[in-house]
Amino acid sequence: KKEEKKEEKVMAVETPILTATEVKVNVSIPDAAERAAATGADGVGLFRIEHMVLGLGKHPMQYIKEGKVDEYIEELYKGMKRVVEAFYPKPVWIRTLDAPTDEFRAMEGGEDEPIEANPMLGFRGIRRDLLETEHFRAEMRAIKKLIDEGFTNIGIMLPLITNVEEVRKAKQLIIEEGIPLNKIEFGIMVETPAAALIIEDLVKEGIDFVSFGTNDLTQYTIAVDRNNENVAYLFDETHPAVMKLIEMVIKVCREHGVKTSICGQAGSYPHVVEKLVLLGIDSVSANQDAVKAVRETVYRAERKIMLDKLRNL
Ligand code: PEP
Ligand code: MG
Repeated sequence: KKEEKKEEKVMAVETPILTATEVKVNVSIPDAAERAAATGADGVGLFRIEHMVLGLGKHPMQYIKEGKVDEYIEELYKGMKRVVEAFYPKPVWIRTLDAPTDEFRAMEGGEDEPIEANPMLGFRGIRRDLLETEHFRAEMRAIKKLIDEGFTNIGIMLPLITNVEEVRKAKQLIIEEGIPLNKIEFGIMVETPAAALIIEDLVKEGIDFVSFGTNDLTQYTIAVDRNNENVAYLFDETHPAVMKLIEMVIKVCREHGVKTSICGQAGSYPHVVEKLVLLGIDSVSANQDAVKAVRETVYRAERKIMLDKLRNL
């Protein structure tokens, strides 16, 4: 018995692999925070707060209609705190609400969600945040509370950016809510071909990072609905058109000192990760169960780069 125990202990100690490219983890619900942190990830590359909000059961606009915005802020604050605390001092990039109408309609108070023929091209992401500013402001107040408590390991990330105005307007609202942008990070998702093609203009708006949302970037670039089984066979994050956009964005961002990352599903696929490391991406955010494998892939890709360099000395 004693022998067995000893062996277990030895097995449990793993040498952490060090990589220059950071390996982060995606988080959707606060309950996953501690387990996600235990993966040894270098931070959270995407905290999808819409899953946490869906979990509340009540539509954000319903809280606002009932005059209970403080209750909503408190819920957001509690959920965000759990993640930010579990990872402290590692960074947690909190994505502002990316609520698709079809998913939010089922919630209490969700009856007013517009019925859309193409929800994926509709009222979601930053465009929605900027029209329903009440919930965007509530998120900022929750974040402000955390910053005031000393949790500056936060990044604010804007979803579905397609133009410069969206970044400007969001930044204005963030500043109006008293968020000290010099203490935290501020970034955007690159998940539309538009954002990738105007990346030069977007980086001039003063962003610290971009993160590739390859689920959306792929569906919008190659016109393949990510949720349509009939065309699922065409869904390919490594389509040359998608890779070309990513390569271009990484190049421009490196020139401007803006960090690049990926948080789409493709960030969990070894063959994509290897390509991205070779292109010079700064971090990769994977699903919780893929963190270990991604770290190993990154390690191998970096080793290959170093060996090639040494051989060509
Ligand atoms: C993406 O589009 O790749 C992404 C990470 O965002 P979501 O899957 O939440 O749309
Ligand atoms: Mg997306």
